[in-house]
Amino acid sequence: MVLLGKKNINTIANKITIRGIIQGVGFRPFVYKIASKYSCTGWVRNTGSSVEILIEGTATNIKGFLTELTTKSPPAALIRDFVRAEVKPPGYTTFMIKESRNQKEPISISPDLALCPQCLKEFNDPANRRFKYPFINCTHCGPRFTIIQGIPYDRCKTTMSSFTMCPQCLEEYANPQDRRFHAQPNACQNCGPSLKLLDKYGQPCTENYCSLLLQGYIMAVKSLGGFHLVCDATNEKVLETLRERKSREAKPLAVMAKNLEILHKYCYVSPQEKNLLQSPQAPIVILKQKKATALPASLSPNLDTLGVMLPYTPLHHLLFDDNLELLVMTSGNRSGEPLIYNNHEAIQKLAGIADFFLLHNRPIYNRCDDSVIRVIQGIPQITRRARGFVPLPLSISPVPTDLLALGADLKNTFCLASSNKAFLSQHLGDLENCNTFLAYKKNLQHFQEYFQIKPTTLVHDLHPGYLTTQYANSLALPKIGVQHHQAHLSSCLAENNFTKEVLGLVCDGSGYGLDHHIWGFEFFSGSIGNFQRLAHLEYVPLLGGETTIQKPERMALIYLLTYCQKEGIKWVEKYLQLPPGQIALYEKLLKDSHNYVLTSSCGRLFDAVAALLGVCRTNKYEGQGPMELEALCQTDISKSYPFTISEDNTLKILSLAEMWPQIINDMERKKEPGYIAAKFHQTLVKMISKTFLILREETGLNTVALSGGTMQNMYLLHHLLETLREKGFIVLTHHKVPPNDGGISLGQAVTAGRLLSCV
Ligand code: ZN
Ligand code: ZN
Ligand code: FE
Repeated sequence: MVLLGKKNINTIANKITIRGIIQGVGFRPFVYKIASKYSCTGWVRNTGSSVEILIEGTATNIKGFLTELTTKSPPAALIRDFVRAEVKPPGYTTFMIKESRNQKEPISISPDLALCPQCLKEFNDPANRRFKYPFINCTHCGPRFTIIQGIPYDRCKTTMSSFTMCPQCLEEYANPQDRRFHAQPNACQNCGPSLKLLDKYGQPCTENYCSLLLQGYIMAVKSLGGFHLVCDATNEKVLETLRERKSREAKPLAVMAKNLEILHKYCYVSPQEKNLLQSPQAPIVILKQKKATALPASLSPNLDTLGVMLPYTPLHHLLFDDNLELLVMTSGNRSGEPLIYNNHEAIQKLAGIADFFLLHNRPIYNRCDDSVIRVIQGIPQITRRARGFVPLPLSISPVPTDLLALGADLKNTFCLASSNKAFLSQHLGDLENCNTFLAYKKNLQHFQEYFQIKPTTLVHDLHPGYLTTQYANSLALPKIGVQHHQAHLSSCLAENNFTKEVLGLVCDGSGYGLDHHIWGFEFFSGSIGNFQRLAHLEYVPLLGGETTIQKPERMALIYLLTYCQKEGIKWVEKYLQLPPGQIALYEKLLKDSHNYVLTSSCGRLFDAVAALLGVCRTNKYEGQGPMELEALCQTDISKSYPFTISEDNTLKILSLAEMWPQIINDMERKKEPGYIAAKFHQTLVKMISKTFLILREETGLNTVALSGGTMQNMYLLHHLLETLREKGFIVLTHHKVPPNDGGISLGQAVTAGRLLSCV
């Protein structure tokens, strides 16, 4: 790759170092092209962690080169750091793309990228040699993280290594002027991967897959980061079959729309949501459904939202034909198991769920689920961070030693931190069985290899029963335990690069507290590594453990028996219709504190209200009660129930004791559940902002940070942001990492980093 340039005595030279997302996205060919355009000489090379450029030419040409370099980079590239220095012109007569130089710094690996507009155009062009080829890609798009087996990123270290490029593909690959120059997964129908359709017995068949979907069959489709179970989202009958076979009674199903026009028929799409759907990350975006749509209610039962994405691989485009508009695209796994990503396992484990298998022979090396994002007040909030984002690092305050933060057991991610970078794993799901834990360990090994990080300290949750805690204990490395909610709060501060003191609120399902009770509605003050708990929701007995978490009606029973005494039993009988034996048993057991643990959980509070209102008496998936309660809220309610804030030594205790009889009162007056649900949400908004006002008075702190799974509640967060900002608070929320337990590992890592720096 040599370009002849004119030697000029008026030349100047610049040495440029660029960091960001610049590997595997066509950045060096882009540099070559603009150097050529402006008749500049010199070289460009990849160092692993950066791209270095030496550029030589006339002042005018270099100016033109620099302008294009910084404003017209490839769509998937992102320049984070740009350093330029004038140097003595070495007198190059050509411009070269030099071989990569390996450095010790952690390298950056590009996430997978959705099919780019140029490739889509070629895909739809009958004259193009890749017409309808399901694996078309270029340097701007296609698989990356999911096919990378080792570093540096080269074809021989990807799962494409077994495919030998045909002369035409090779020519594109070797030509710096081509969009496919060094596109490692480059392929065509003559030399690349191919599709295979199998029936439920694993036998090859020749049917058309669109018509099979249209006929109401369920198909296991191998996508980018793993398998999807796919069926016609408008066919009520097949949805029922899918739910039955997958033992997924009520949890919402994600869908893929053929295109934006079709999506507009069913959902409201803001310009920002549209941009997200069409971005190279192409996540699932949670959209508000249009009320009068003809969509089956069983797609997202009792919710007013729908998780939607657009086709992000060429294969997805092949699944839609003229009669198919909307497909269910749910993760291909068995309930509680990790996402399936290889053909063999799919045929074995999805037998009995899928009627057909649409497979291909490009192996997936790293499984990676779809990411999930929702937009709140114009700002995207990620609730599942995986495809399109992982394994990009987050910038953090430098940690003094390499760390491994193991995360929490639900919605797990782990985090490897080195210097000022935190590498968060993709969402790995709930670590509840042997297979999910094996997947966890495998990913951990991959990340350590890619980023060459050898942790010297482990960071874990304080919950002694967590698998992650037990795993930490089994390893012979120094360990640091970080309290669950302090980790939540720290993750929020870390992603906002906020190092000063704040007031913080963390609301979630449960986390092990420093006093050994189950926390979940906690106010703190301080900074990362140094928080003090200032207030919490009044403890109630959590009797019955896991069963009570799954059965919100029991939590309602506990709340009513705790706060409504004698009338409580009357109301429990009337509204909860529980068997008299159970009520008597709970009444008896609640008298002895040996029978239960105490909890301030916000999730359980939502559960109890949802059950009392008859919205959700049994949780069929995590968070069902709270989500359905949110969906029910009437929008124009500003009324609220009473609450109290009292002092207990140094802690403030927030109590909703007086709310319960008033909810019953509203129910007796036949007020609608949507009215009561909204009034309950407004109560929390008022109680939280009142508490922050008191704490601001006492501490002088005016910045508040909000974290925890409950912050996924759009109604609550929206009103909280409005009220707190009205009162002059600066509010920090989550955008880059989930407010739920998916963000815990980042919080653990930065906390340990801070503690170790202080020693
Ligand atoms: Zn492309
Ligand atoms: Zn080829
Ligand atoms: Fe949590």
